[in-house]
Amino acid sequence: MTDLTALRAEVRALLDEWRTAGRFTPQCDAWLRGNDPQFSKAVAARGWIGMTWPRPLGGSEESNRARLVVTEELLRAGAPVAAHWMGDRQIGPAILRYGSAELQQTYLPRIAAGDVTFCLGMSETESGSDLASVRTTATAVDGGFRITGRKIWTSQAHTASHIYVLARTDRAADKHAGLTEFVVDMSSVGVEVRPIFDLRGQHHFNEVTFDDVFVRADQVLGAVGQGWAQVTEQLAFERGGMERLLSTYPLLAECVRAAASHEHYADIGSAVAQLATMRRLALQVATALDAGSAPVQLAATLKDLGTTFEGEVNELGRRVLAVEPDPGADGVAELLAGGILAAPGFTIRGGTTEVLRTIIARTAGEVGRARAGSAEIEEMADDVLAGRGGEPPATGRPAIWPTLAELGWPGVGMAESRGGSGGSLADLVTLVRATGRHAVSTPLAETAWAHRLVGRAGTGAATVVVSDRLSATDGGLSGEVSRVPWARSVDRFVVVVDGSVHEVPADAAGITVTPGENLAGEPRDTVRFDVVAVGPPVAAVDADQALAEGALLRVAQLVGAAEAALAYSAAHAGTREQFGRPLIKFQAVGSLLAQMVGQVTLARAALAGAITGDSPPVDHVAAAFAVAGPAATFAARAAHQLHGAMGITREHPLHLSTRRLWSWRDEFGGDRAWARRLGRRLAGLGEDDLWDWLTATGANGDEA
Ligand SMILES: Cc1cc2nc3c(=O)[nH]c(=O)nc-3n(C[C@H](O)[C@H](O)[C@H](O)COP(=O)(O)OP(=O)(O)OC[C@H]3O[C@@H](n4cnc5c(N)ncnc54)[C@H](O)[C@@H]3O)c2cc1C
Repeated sequence: MTDLTALRAEVRALLDEWRTAGRFTPQCDAWLRGNDPQFSKAVAARGWIGMTWPRPLGGSEESNRARLVVTEELLRAGAPVAAHWMGDRQIGPAILRYGSAELQQTYLPRIAAGDVTFCLGMSETESGSDLASVRTTATAVDGGFRITGRKIWTSQAHTASHIYVLARTDRAADKHAGLTEFVVDMSSVGVEVRPIFDLRGQHHFNEVTFDDVFVRADQVLGAVGQGWAQVTEQLAFERGGMERLLSTYPLLAECVRAAASHEHYADIGSAVAQLATMRRLALQVATALDAGSAPVQLAATLKDLGTTFEGEVNELGRRVLAVEPDPGADGVAELLAGGILAAPGFTIRGGTTEVLRTIIARTAGEVGRARAGSAEIEEMADDVLAGRGGEPPATGRPAIWPTLAELGWPGVGMAESRGGSGGSLADLVTLVRATGRHAVSTPLAETAWAHRLVGRAGTGAATVVVSDRLSATDGGLSGEVSRVPWARSVDRFVVVVDGSVHEVPADAAGITVTPGENLAGEPRDTVRFDVVAVGPPVAAVDADQALAEGALLRVAQLVGAAEAALAYSAAHAGTREQFGRPLIKFQAVGSLLAQMVGQVTLARAALAGAITGDSPPVDHVAAAFAVAGPAATFAARAAHQLHGAMGITREHPLHLSTRRLWSWRDEFGGDRAWARRLGRRLAGLGEDDLWDWLTATGANGDEA
């Protein structure tokens, strides 16, 4: 396997060389509008076009993950890659999947060499979102086909050597059936290109007219009549790449550099956390492609989330950069102008947001039910927890606690030699997430957290108190801390004060617990320590790291509860009828469900991103909270909207999820505080370090 760190460095070296020589200036949306065939040739010379393809066909048999490293570095730099982008991303892979051996031999090596460049002839004036309605016809003639019709919005048709054309070969068949894909030489007699200028007055797309253009039979891509099935698979390549996230990255990097206030930090932290999380989704798409599948739904979700994000970066730029957009200027004013004028296209090209959401909504039930951890542990957790959710007990411990304790759940993630049950942090997260999904309130997360701080698993239930309101002197521990989970019903407190971890029995003299609760009715008590005698510290810990350990488990609960809210909503929308049909058949309902799918997918990926090894990095937990909090907010709002009046009753179980979502998002300081702390840290980094942080996960092929 290629050393991806070395590969990344090589790409950077090429970019540095070109930038330093003044051969390109970074711009927003460069992958569609920055066309420099010489640059594409330089990329080709290093083997970075068609790099996943077989060697005999011009490739280097690299993984899609390696390709992701190359593409994200090119996009980061805003480099002029448009000449080779479509052939490398989409048409090459389509030829590889469906093309005849001859077509493969003819085109793939030349695409990889940067000699053949492609544009995409799909859309027509009357066929936009309804792509299957294309009217361009290809009529069978001796030796091939004659194509007549008009394609529009064809990016780079004025520079490409070839065009991919979706055309109708059978008018009689149902509209999805009679379609065929072709490869057409742009220099063929009868092909004419008319420029179209965009909002900025730039020329990157075109109208392409085909007037009785002869195409040899061997230029059919795949099978005649199979165009629709083939093109829909292609969309996984088209929609799931980093270019759906990074079109405005040069602007985002400037925002991070310029951030100078608390409000900016929170906005920056939130934006970068989202970007890092979406990148994980792009890695999942790349991994699925490597496995030979076509992750159409995940790619659609990524494109919806990513292109919305790209547009939001402009608004961030307006808040943080405090410059007026100026297309004639240099630097940030130009980047902002470019971002604003390009943004309307982000959520249209490659399938509009509305159409993508229709595709995504169909899978809402599946996504709500999907499990993310080890299948065996997920199944076991579901068996134990199913039907055990409900209101937390007003006093004492929940009835299920002895079962969980007996099963050793609070000791999962801790070695048996330390009194634990073995397993990994990821396994513990899976169990805690499952309690969130089943609305089972227990001190599991708190007890496991306490074990981790102490460094060994104890018996009974525990909770953790980390607060700067406490002081420990020779006389004892003093201070008052509010909102302590489960304080009234635990056996001991694990207290972190001045970097030291102390274990304090819950019945120690000088402790007073005053009950309180969160929106979900879970115990959140006030604990007063009145010169409580404590023994020597049992461990030393950084307070931030200590908090992060607990916050990670709360994110796991949030994700579980959001999954449950989605599952309820998908089931409800699929069965409840109004106006004579299930709610899901209404597009507004489907769109809301699809957005829930996006947020739950994002929150899951953010959680996964924070589980690195055995000790979650504080920044990644911050990112996970910063993403999961807003996802929880969205999921709760959407779930209630979708359920109508019956969702706001105590009879319907939805409230067991949503009341928890509303509570947990504000615990551990809340999502905004985590976003702020991440933003403050990132703002102090240079762009190189920011980028390294963003791309650390999965960069070298580790788990996505
Ligand atoms: C910058 C840019 C580059 C492009 N490059 C190419 C290219 O290289 N090759 C190519 O073939 N095409 C290209 N396109 C075209 C692009 O694929 C289409 O614009 C897109 O598929 C939408 O079609 P349309 O513009 O006709 O909009 P329409 O389909 O007319 O949609 C207009 C609005 O109605 C909504 N709408 C339509 N149908 C539905 C529905 N069933 N349910 C809900 N809402 C609906 C849409 O979401 C949108 O909001 C490009 C577009 C842009 C903006």
